[in-house]
Amino acid sequence: MVSDRHRRLDRPLKLAVGPKTATALEKLGPTTTGGLLRYYPRRYGDRGKLTTLRDLGVGEHVTVIAQVAGSSVRAMRNKRGAILTATITDGRDRLTLTFFGKSAGTLSFHERRLRPGITGMFTGTVGEYRGTLQLTHPDYEPFEDLDEEFAAVQKVDWPVPIYPAGASIPSWRIATAVQTVLTAQGPQDVPEPLPAAYREEHGLVGVLQALHWLHEPHSMGDVRRAQDRMKHEEAFVLQTALAQRRAAMRSRPTMARPLRMGGIREAFEARLPFELTAGQREVGAVVADEISEPVPMQRLLQGEVGSGKTVVALRAMLQVVDTGGQAALLAPTEVLAQQHLRTITALLGPLAEAGMLGGAEHATRVTLLTGSLSAPARRKALAAAASGEAGIVIGTHALLSENVQLADLGLVVIDEQHRFGVEQRDALRAKADGTPHLLVMTATPIPRTVAMTSFGDLETSTLSELPAGRAGIETVVVPAGKPAWVERAWQRIREEVDGGGRAYVVCPRITATETEQGEEEMAEDADLLDDLPFTEDLIATGGLPDAAPRASGPPRPPLASVEEVAALLRQVPALDGVTIGEMHGQLPTDAKDAAMAAFASGAAPVLVSTTVIEVGVDVPAATVMVILDADRFGLSQLHQLRGRIGRGTKPGVCLAVTTAQKDSRAMARVQAFAGTTDGFRLAELDLQMRKEGDVLGAAQAGRGSSLRLLSVTKDVEIITAARAGARALVERDPALATEPDLAEVLDASIDEETAEFLQRF
Ligand code: ADP
Ligand code: MG
Repeated sequence: MVSDRHRRLDRPLKLAVGPKTATALEKLGPTTTGGLLRYYPRRYGDRGKLTTLRDLGVGEHVTVIAQVAGSSVRAMRNKRGAILTATITDGRDRLTLTFFGKSAGTLSFHERRLRPGITGMFTGTVGEYRGTLQLTHPDYEPFEDLDEEFAAVQKVDWPVPIYPAGASIPSWRIATAVQTVLTAQGPQDVPEPLPAAYREEHGLVGVLQALHWLHEPHSMGDVRRAQDRMKHEEAFVLQTALAQRRAAMRSRPTMARPLRMGGIREAFEARLPFELTAGQREVGAVVADEISEPVPMQRLLQGEVGSGKTVVALRAMLQVVDTGGQAALLAPTEVLAQQHLRTITALLGPLAEAGMLGGAEHATRVTLLTGSLSAPARRKALAAAASGEAGIVIGTHALLSENVQLADLGLVVIDEQHRFGVEQRDALRAKADGTPHLLVMTATPIPRTVAMTSFGDLETSTLSELPAGRAGIETVVVPAGKPAWVERAWQRIREEVDGGGRAYVVCPRITATETEQGEEEMAEDADLLDDLPFTEDLIATGGLPDAAPRASGPPRPPLASVEEVAALLRQVPALDGVTIGEMHGQLPTDAKDAAMAAFASGAAPVLVSTTVIEVGVDVPAATVMVILDADRFGLSQLHQLRGRIGRGTKPGVCLAVTTAQKDSRAMARVQAFAGTTDGFRLAELDLQMRKEGDVLGAAQAGRGSSLRLLSVTKDVEIITAARAGARALVERDPALATEPDLAEVLDASIDEETAEFLQRF
């Protein structure tokens, strides 16, 4: 809702700039006057030097002031289309202007504006055609009178805003429309979402000033100050929405789940087969404290793959069970849910056997709820959840379904958050009477700014160390062009398998006929997620590498596929007698389970797979990973893949096979991957190597998003400042009564755009 005060920004463009221009602009995005004002120039040109016609040099970018001597339109001789030629003069010399159009009609606009006798300012690059100097498609501004001419001379060194334009409307016409709208705005017309104190503290100009400077700057300094202010505004509005979300959650009633001595948690700790790392203890204490309070915990736990997040979560779950409550663990895939069930049941031992022979005192039950359960198994699981008999319920998105009821849900744990959206988070929490505590876990290291933007309503904890005794992973780049090296890779697998190890061989494709990795692979991943609304999270997948290196080098061989590579490995002498398994997203669920089980048990110690093993799979005996066509994967994705090995006490070896050319960007990425096992470092590198639009997801690129200028990767300081400012404001004034303009902007924009944005993560 927009108050009457700012009604003017709500005006349909048709009424403000005329129907034809409005229709053309609407194709580019803006539909209202306010939208148009926020349609910022993509860059700024300069007019070059103001020069006389006598001094023109071919290739120079120039601006001249001259009078139109004459113009004519004719059809082109050899091609379809028409050409407009105009001659301009300063009284002494002459210059030709040329415009090409689809037909004479499309040129009539210029013809009307370039009437003989009109004086104007013309900007373009000097070209030469048959010995005559000319400007092709110059930017120009005809003057109505001497005052305008005088003003134009003054404006000559102002930056020229260049708008993202379309076929139906050129940049200069957008500029004219923006000016029409902008000059009509007074200070009361444009809402100022930034609190005065915040602007003062950070030296930011007011919103109207910033709009003027963005659309008609007198210098690049103006542009920078205006952009700075607008970035702060974008960050502040988003952070206020997040702060409100956080505050709203915190104000909901929640049951405190204080630590109880002598219960299942204590019994579990007594039987842990390892020492907790310092990080696990620290984070564990923070979590234990938070769920002891009657305020819902909202915490993001990020930690390297293998850093032991599950144990942290399990201790929290048991604390809740000790208070008579239940905990739900939501996993993104069936494979992961199954694995969590196995791990957690194993860790709990008799503590998971309540009511069974040999079950321990304080024991509870762990129940699995996924889409592929048989009807009777499903009924049993539903009953155990609803009666409260199961203290821990593990599942996929099937947990979110309406007929799943929990007796007393006290804690929701979400593993690998990037696969879920805010909506799913909330759907599960809605199953409790109060608001359950929330722990979100992700193995994808999220750079701080992205975390602050996408998880701004959560507090963040990080497990940065790996449990002691991990022998580490060595990564080697293997050029595919060296058969001896590749042979050696298979040999290496043989050695590991003989020593009781397991090996993954990762391929970008499933079959030979499949087109290159891209939509298919994405779709395949989505498939595995059991129809979860798959947020195409490029942070996680690392995006697709660019095709640049292929343009230069020799034609590249087709990408490795699971089927072909598995067939090949069955022929390789080095692997004689070793059973080779296959795994990809298009296998039915039970085939996937069987493949994983055979791999885990050692029945098929070599698993040829697509990236479906990327997330969370834990087979401690896996020590080798060969990644074929490693350059086809993003850095974060490579890191996730590599995290599948070296999880036990034996050192891991990762062989990154690539056809990328020496010195190519693709090779640089593979080498960066081999150079460090620090996930945070790789995530930062990954961000730097990709474009902003990719980071925010496709919906954020170009289209009318609320983040137009702010870069979540670069504007660390602005995001930090805005977050502090927004949180302080919301704490002081949750309803934003003192900042009506901010409230108004939030209501108007955050709803559709930011909500959508937030759900992408
Ligand atoms: P992730 O953080 O990637 O989810 P997991 O929780 O799956 O990692 O833990 C990886 C492996 O490390 C598991 O086999 C787990 O039992 C083991 N582990 C967890 N904490 C410790 C520890 N403190 N010491 C030794 N091993 C540990
Ligand atoms: Mg995990």
